[in-house]
Amino acid sequence: MAISVEARAAALDLIDFIDASPSPWHAVASVEKRLLDRGYRNLPESERWRLEAGGRYLVVRGGSIVAFALGTVPLEQSGFRIVGAHTDSPGLRLKPRAAHGAEGLVRLAVEVYGGPILATFTDRDLSLAGRVNVRASEGIATRLLQLREPLVRLPNLAIHMNRNVNEDGLKLNKQTELPLIFGVARDGEDADARFRGVLADALQVEAKDVVNWELAVYDTQQGRLWGAEQEFVSDSQLDNLASCHAGVTALLNTLAPSATCVCALFDHEEVGSESAAGAGGSLVADLLGRIAAGLGCDGEGLRCALARSFFVSADMAHAWHPNFPAAYEPNHRVLVNAGPVIKTNANQRYSTGADTAARFIELCEMAGVRYQHYAHRSDLGCGSTIGPIVASRLGVPSVDVGSPMWAMHSLRESAGVADHAAMIAVLSEFYRHD
Ligand code: ZN
Repeated sequence: MAISVEARAAALDLIDFIDASPSPWHAVASVEKRLLDRGYRNLPESERWRLEAGGRYLVVRGGSIVAFALGTVPLEQSGFRIVGAHTDSPGLRLKPRAAHGAEGLVRLAVEVYGGPILATFTDRDLSLAGRVNVRASEGIATRLLQLREPLVRLPNLAIHMNRNVNEDGLKLNKQTELPLIFGVARDGEDADARFRGVLADALQVEAKDVVNWELAVYDTQQGRLWGAEQEFVSDSQLDNLASCHAGVTALLNTLAPSATCVCALFDHEEVGSESAAGAGGSLVADLLGRIAAGLGCDGEGLRCALARSFFVSADMAHAWHPNFPAAYEPNHRVLVNAGPVIKTNANQRYSTGADTAARFIELCEMAGVRYQHYAHRSDLGCGSTIGPIVASRLGVPSVDVGSPMWAMHSLRESAGVADHAAMIAVLSEFYRHD
């Protein structure tokens, strides 16, 4: 298939975005930078807001960020057009007292965050990224940290000691077999102090001023295009930074919209969304209420606005993998580079209904992109996402969609270059359309 110049450029921009976003907090910073560069203004939650007509704003809460562009039509008449996605990806996180020496090596203890395919973390050039609290003149400050060089590793067990690995698959005990090798132990050295020193050096502070940290393990290998015509993209965290990128790009494409357009990117989706920053928390309802209040729309007006609103929950979808046909519902084979996927589940694991799917189909048709339908096998547990959570918090009609991808929750996932451009096109249509 021929990939357009624009689609290729969007995929390369996606790779840049993901590679600059090795943790949810970095993803928030990456999104914030793109928005600030294009005239958005940061609204602190702790201050009173003064919204201006035509204003474009962003709000950060932990690993979540919500951006919005005020519409030209009164909110009560136009409602909100909301795209949602999540900033977090499953993986490994360091425990608070991670470093320990044993048998001549220093290792770092990790906790499994969400549901990663653990075997994909073996034999990769891993490093650490996240947020670190340091003592500063103004008190304790939070600093973003991305260690660039490969720092840690999870070497596989040789096949000579694991003779059935190809028959049984690689199984890793989450407590005993995941600690990451960090270095050779030095005589008489305190492992924790040594690790703290690495963080301090990277942040150019004294080790005694490193108070605490929240660090994710990430893959230092950068994203690439691949395939006979470079029609595929591979990177870590495509689930769900690809949807974050598509939503933010679509919002930045939208100038002077008629309805108030919102792009809400949440942390903690992979662990159930129940947190102060997560989709299950108060964030989105708080912000929509404050936007309404800032526009002089009272409680009754807000209810009218919500009833006129629409939520597109964008999260990646499972593409058909021809090597594993038995894993799929045979009549819902979703193909890579065949367009956005509408996800349906009668048990409300996805928020899609017939009417909301129809509205998304209409948007695809207006944007000139093909679309596909996905349903999970009935004899397999179906995943879920933020769609049903936000829909039930807000009482807003909602559809769950996503771009097709392979190897969801692998450290190295793949998706289609044309699909990413198509998702940007349909989300742009959603924000723009009257
Ligand atoms: Zn996801």
